[in-house]
Amino acid sequence: MKWFKNLQQNLTSSADPIDTPSLDPRWRDLSLGKFRCGCCDKNFTDLLSMGYSAPEDWPSDKIRASSHDIDLADETFLTQDLCKFSNRHFVRAVLLLPLVGSEVPFLIGIWVEISETDFRSFAAEMPSGKQGQLEIMFCRLANIIPPFRIGLPCIMKPRDNFQRPVVHIAIEEDPLYAAQIDGLDFDQLLDMLRPHGHFLIGDDALDHLST
Ligand SMILES: [Zn+2]
Repeated sequence: MKWFKNLQQNLTSSADPIDTPSLDPRWRDLSLGKFRCGCCDKNFTDLLSMGYSAPEDWPSDKIRASSHDIDLADETFLTQDLCKFSNRHFVRAVLLLPLVGSEVPFLIGIWVEISETDFRSFAAEMPSGKQGQLEIMFCRLANIIPPFRIGLPCIMKPRDNFQRPVVHIAIEEDPLYAAQIDGLDFDQLLDMLRPHGHFLIGDDALDHLST
């Protein structure tokens, strides 16, 4: 078995197709910027990072605030990183899904619900940028990531230097857990982007969409 240390070299090489682990050639086209989205005309590589602006249940009539303007004792607020309403507490985190055949992962900015105690600890350390010293926190997904379900139990690891915490799915039987371990193939990535309106146009993309 022949393995490549440098994936980029592998992608651009026409070397022996027999001994090479097969890679979907669409990853190469994607990394070369060949694909654009049919709904927003963005380069498809830009869609590998997406985020939810608020928890699913956030009352849409409420206005987002700057983190400088809120008082943590307030009953209802939404900032870039924190959210509170109906005595529920949320933080914005990051979910990473590996892409099989791609060097870059699919990155989703996601809201998770945590306990009030953890929320207070997390928020208290925010100005210091030293949240990495906090314990791992139990949480639940607070957004719908089609085709996965909301409310999924997770663990959240706070990080230093003002980086958003990383979320890991806690239920081994759940498909999203498998996706986080095994990664998504190209079609599974398309399946996740399509419910958000994004779809592929370009070279032979329409052939793939119709199959
Ligand atoms: Zn789009």
